[in-house]
Amino acid sequence: MPTAEFRQAMHRAADLMADYLEHVQDYPVMPKISPGDVRRRLPQTPPQDPEPFDRIFDDYRKLIEPNTTHWNHPGFMAYFAVTGSGPGIIGESLAAALNVNAMLWRTGPAATELEELACDWVRQMLDLPAAAGEFRGHINDTASMSSLLSLAAAREHAAELDIRRRGMAGRTDLPRLTLYCSDQAHSSIDKAAITLGFGLDNLRRIETDQAFRMKVDALEAAIAADKAAGCRPVAVVATVGTTSTTSVDPLPEIAAVARRENMWLHVDGAYALAAGICPEFRPLLAGLAEADSIVTNPHKWLFVPVDCSVLFVRRPELLRRAFSIVPDYLTTPETGVTNLMDYGVQLGRRFRALKLWMVVRAFGVKGLQERIRYHCALAREFAAWIEAQPGFALFAPVPFSTVCFRAVPAGSPEDQDRFNERLLAAVNAAGPVLLSHTRLRGRYVLRLTVGNLRTTRVHLEQAERLIDQAHARLLSAAGK
Ligand code: PLP
Repeated sequence: MPTAEFRQAMHRAADLMADYLEHVQDYPVMPKISPGDVRRRLPQTPPQDPEPFDRIFDDYRKLIEPNTTHWNHPGFMAYFAVTGSGPGIIGESLAAALNVNAMLWRTGPAATELEELACDWVRQMLDLPAAAGEFRGHINDTASMSSLLSLAAAREHAAELDIRRRGMAGRTDLPRLTLYCSDQAHSSIDKAAITLGFGLDNLRRIETDQAFRMKVDALEAAIAADKAAGCRPVAVVATVGTTSTTSVDPLPEIAAVARRENMWLHVDGAYALAAGICPEFRPLLAGLAEADSIVTNPHKWLFVPVDCSVLFVRRPELLRRAFSIVPDYLTTPETGVTNLMDYGVQLGRRFRALKLWMVVRAFGVKGLQERIRYHCALAREFAAWIEAQPGFALFAPVPFSTVCFRAVPAGSPEDQDRFNERLLAAVNAAGPVLLSHTRLRGRYVLRLTVGNLRTTRVHLEQAERLIDQAHARLLSAAGK
């Protein structure tokens, strides 16, 4: 593509993006299509000859954009709502032009140093300790990868196991290595246990209290029982903002257990830890600084486009011990530099720091704080509406911007589950909003989360109206 043609096409792409962001609310949040519809309408074989970009853009506009689930839509209130903000989109586009592969300092000096700096900005924003070497951050694609790397470092922390060299398979000298997290922890911890060879049987899911926080006495009891059975407890994962309810595990007590038992403490704050940039949320996060590693995803609630997950590790040399391998073709003359390939599984890496840096600069810390506060205020208003609404009940406390609730028509809990499933389907079928669900204490529960920059009170009121109308329709259809 000659640069003149590229320039023209990029101007067009900028228009497409701006038009999309200006009008995204005109789409239903989820396209009304069936599986296979998109693929069927696209050419099934690659073109043999070059195609003009006009035609490619046309297909993008007709087939791709409308058939997308619109995460950048103000009515997107499902899962954890996120935003690819303007500054983040610009950073992502510029990174593509540079096309840096920052595996080594020399293959991406600016990418490496900006990654270190941008992570340190996030550390400062979260008020994590500044002492030299504490909580060095680097960027991964997702929290799933960050937690996996952290648990690999935890295994390296148990140095006597010599796992890097000798592996785990077939060893009769190894005790059973056990991991601990709450019954509300994210499934990425299970995946890490599978991938690293701990095995699901050795991941203890500790029960939670009424507010869905890990019970520390149950954690202690599980560790004691495992030790009595000859197991070696390796790590505990505490969550700040569990996926279903955004509950926060009691970090100071869990940290005390981890210290006493010489276990690694990893904190999964993929979504809600972003709220820690606001001082008023810090009391909820007491004990965070005692962790060995912490993950937070700027691509969830700091308005950076997917993907961008920051992993802070107090002793990054453990990650290097777990992963660093330097074949001859990757040796470099520079000394005392960070080579990001040493901190995980992947060799090549994208220049993700650029979009993070641009977002923080363009919003300023105050701008980011304001948005998070606004989202939490909207969620509290919605929770208050639910509480005041006959026939509905909140199902969990609302510490951040996620509300778990459920309709409670007359009938058995199972009848109520089915009613709520139908309610969710009816609300989502309308188009302007998308909610999601979870199961808590065995019950089917609806979730509404506020995290998109374009979401305002108007959209929350629209969600309330749609919930109210669908609820009334379902009750009348059931003759209640
Ligand atoms: N941890 C928590 C608490 C989450 O809620 C999620 C996803 O929502 C994850 C981890 C996984 O995040 P990712 O998609 O970045 O792997």
